[in-house]
Amino acid sequence: MHASSDCLLRDVWLVPMDGPAEAPLGAVRRGALRIRDGRIASLGDLTAEPGERCLDGRGRHLLPGFVQGHVHATQTLFRGLADDLPLLTWLQQRIWPLEHHHDAASTRIAAELTFAELLRSGTTAAQTMESVRHAEVVAEVAARSGLTVVTGNCLMDVDDPNLPRGMATSAPEALRRLDELRRAYAGHQRIAIAASPRFVLSCSDALSRDVAAYAAQHQLRVHTHAAEHPAEVAAVRQRFGRDYLEVLADQGLLGPRTALAHCVHTSPRERELLASTGTTVVHCPSTNLKLGSGLAPIADYHRRGIPIALGADGAPCNNRLAMPTELRQAALLAATAAGPGAWPAAQALAAATRGGAHAIGRGHELGQLRVGYRADLVLWNLDDPRLGVVEPRLPASALVYSADLEHLEAVAVGGHWVVEAGHLLDHDRRRLADAARAAQAAVLARAGLHR
Ligand SMILES: [Zn+2]
Repeated sequence: MHASSDCLLRDVWLVPMDGPAEAPLGAVRRGALRIRDGRIASLGDLTAEPGERCLDGRGRHLLPGFVQGHVHATQTLFRGLADDLPLLTWLQQRIWPLEHHHDAASTRIAAELTFAELLRSGTTAAQTMESVRHAEVVAEVAARSGLTVVTGNCLMDVDDPNLPRGMATSAPEALRRLDELRRAYAGHQRIAIAASPRFVLSCSDALSRDVAAYAAQHQLRVHTHAAEHPAEVAAVRQRFGRDYLEVLADQGLLGPRTALAHCVHTSPRERELLASTGTTVVHCPSTNLKLGSGLAPIADYHRRGIPIALGADGAPCNNRLAMPTELRQAALLAATAAGPGAWPAAQALAAATRGGAHAIGRGHELGQLRVGYRADLVLWNLDDPRLGVVEPRLPASALVYSADLEHLEAVAVGGHWVVEAGHLLDHDRRRLADAARAAQAAVLARAGLHR
């Protein structure tokens, strides 16, 4: 990594993602992009200044880094340990016991695995929901990673008989941990703390209302799950006598600072609530498919003007954390759910970039190539016969439907190139793989579970 990130990246196709809602890519054009102090200083038809360090983009496509709206870093150690189960069983039999038996050391390995994988696959910012304990470890690893991360300890105070004993905390304890984290990262440039109720069923009504008030007082993001699986939606209706999003609205948890993962099963009335409150939906298509939850009505949300982001969710329910996969899945599923063309490839790209930036409260500095925005960049090589003949000014089809990780060549965070020629720099894969093996075995042993 160079000490200074200042440079001129020349001869690239700029895909600024700054267009209007119906044409979000903006004007794709060949040019250059200048990085100064980690930010985009200028872009367009530029010539090098005397002595300026120049990088040759060789006709590649340059996009803003992907921003994922919903990830669980702590779960990355558990990939492959909870396959082939529906949501509630997946949580009760595998994920909750495994999360509960994490310690700080194993959480650190999970976070290291997560942020390395995100960077390698072009995600330069993310919102993550961590477990009840050790969220501070994830925040610490995130701060060193170079990514921009909104994170938080998940809040659970309902002691469900299906939860491991001692996993839920009291409501005051949940808020105390959140407050401690918030204070630790107040004013941090890249790390922010979100109020993260796990989901409606894991929180008492009193805690949910207190969290809404606390988030409003400190202007925190609110990050939770909603309306993911039919069995979960039925359980919410049984407990509260109302639909899922009506409960969240009544508790004060909807609004422009809120991002809801999933929203697969919603009534017309609930969709009106999403639109009228400006709440973001984070669509997690691979997870919805793998847990058999259903097809989220994303094209309808888009038609109603509801903000949309994309997320990989947790490694045990995906089992990848790669935005290129979610892009393709989201676009294909929208065609099946609402008809081809109802939510085309360009909209998936918008959700993966500026939609994610909006979802994490960073729309003013992430998700687009604009002067003053952070130089979080992804360089794609679409010059491959297997991608067909790509018209360089119309790259959405190749990027969403055809390209894969191998076409993603370089990634920069804050102007520093951390992935080059498809390889994550300063990264010891062997060490991390060995540490992951040992940490996973230790968590399984503590939880009394087997592979
Ligand atoms: Zn999730």
